[in-house]
Amino acid sequence: MPQTAVHDAALPVHDGGEVDWARVRADFPLLMREVHGKPLVYFDNANTGQKPLPVIASQDAFYRRQNANVSRAVHALGTEATEAYEGARNKLARFLNVRADELVLCSGTTFAINLVAYSWALPRLKPGDVVLVSRMEHHANIVPWQLVAQRTGATVRVAEILPDGRLDLEALYRAMTPQVKLLAVTHVSNVLGTINPVREICRQARRHGIVTVVDGSQAVPHLKLDVAAIGCDFYAVTGHKMCAPTGTGALWARREHLEAMPPFIGGGEMIKEVSFEGTVFNDPPHKFEAGTPNIAGFVGLGAAVDYLESVGMDNIAAREAELLAHATRALQAIPGLRIFGTAPDKAGVISFLVDGAHAHDLATLLDLEGVAVRSGQHCAHPLLQFFGVAATVRASLAFYNTHEEIERFAAALRKVRQLLC
Ligand code: PLP
Repeated sequence: MPQTAVHDAALPVHDGGEVDWARVRADFPLLMREVHGKPLVYFDNANTGQKPLPVIASQDAFYRRQNANVSRAVHALGTEATEAYEGARNKLARFLNVRADELVLCSGTTFAINLVAYSWALPRLKPGDVVLVSRMEHHANIVPWQLVAQRTGATVRVAEILPDGRLDLEALYRAMTPQVKLLAVTHVSNVLGTINPVREICRQARRHGIVTVVDGSQAVPHLKLDVAAIGCDFYAVTGHKMCAPTGTGALWARREHLEAMPPFIGGGEMIKEVSFEGTVFNDPPHKFEAGTPNIAGFVGLGAAVDYLESVGMDNIAAREAELLAHATRALQAIPGLRIFGTAPDKAGVISFLVDGAHAHDLATLLDLEGVAVRSGQHCAHPLLQFFGVAATVRASLAFYNTHEEIERFAAALRKVRQLLC
């Protein structure tokens, strides 16, 4: 297989059994660097994830040995590049447990959700129809629905959350009135870490004939996923949060939706035949993949899937749960610190504020201590409005982080707090 041929045999392989986490961490060269003369503690994984050696090597190898365009050339390189690109689709499909011919490759979740908004919702929604979204959505799962609502006369209705950051499921189910045509909900909140019970939510939505879009951006890097079992209509993922290059992602959709949806953008690759009398579109998923894709990026996504599977998604979820418990305990011991999002079912994301300190000041001073965290509204203005705060600091963990880093983070936060408060 050309895709494996580009991998160096000396690259790390884990066997998914008892994981040596120090060895796993050594696969991420960026984590070895210093920032402001201090060893880096990278706790901004919900923003973007770091890349392991096999993913980095796949980029170099692709451009050294395989670079060609996909599906356009009969020469050997073209065939290899196409096989590598389609190989990545197959790997991602297996990883998500969906059919490869139902997986549209695209630049990320933002594109994936816009594809549903413009190809599925825009032709169907009418005045009086409702799109239901939860309060905890990322802007990528709010703004496309507002844009489509403006153009169709539909409205966007909000499903509220509870103070601990769980979705208010009773209110959500009550909001599923006959006017609701589509429900857009995140699997895991990028601010609160809440893991939503999307399987049950989609089951309830199906009973009401509501089409469901699940934003899987923050789930796919952390949980062992079975998208087919969720029972949604659309599931969006982004590659750069799951160890893959930026500009990669996918939309999974039921075949009947992909058949019925018109193309979102037109151009090469997405057609069978073009004449001035009319164009015959390619079959899905290629119908939605106009133009030259991010071929090297998807080769990297295939390598990322191989890597995550070699460590084992169950191992990753267990490791992150352990790190989250440690980090939560360490932060709770800091006077005046308030955590936003304390749902029992949580991924490794901790948003917090410290009394008397601004989020940006905390993050800036933490950076000087070598600790990278995000501060601000995390592309979730309506969620922060619910909590009545202008910004939070967010520490987000990944399996390659360590307990020692958590201790260093907590010590840095104590020091910074004393400077600010
Ligand atoms: N949805 C969630 C929950 C996210 O966390 C993000 C990224 O932060 C996105 C959507 C958007 O992803 P992308 O910018 O990769 O398309």
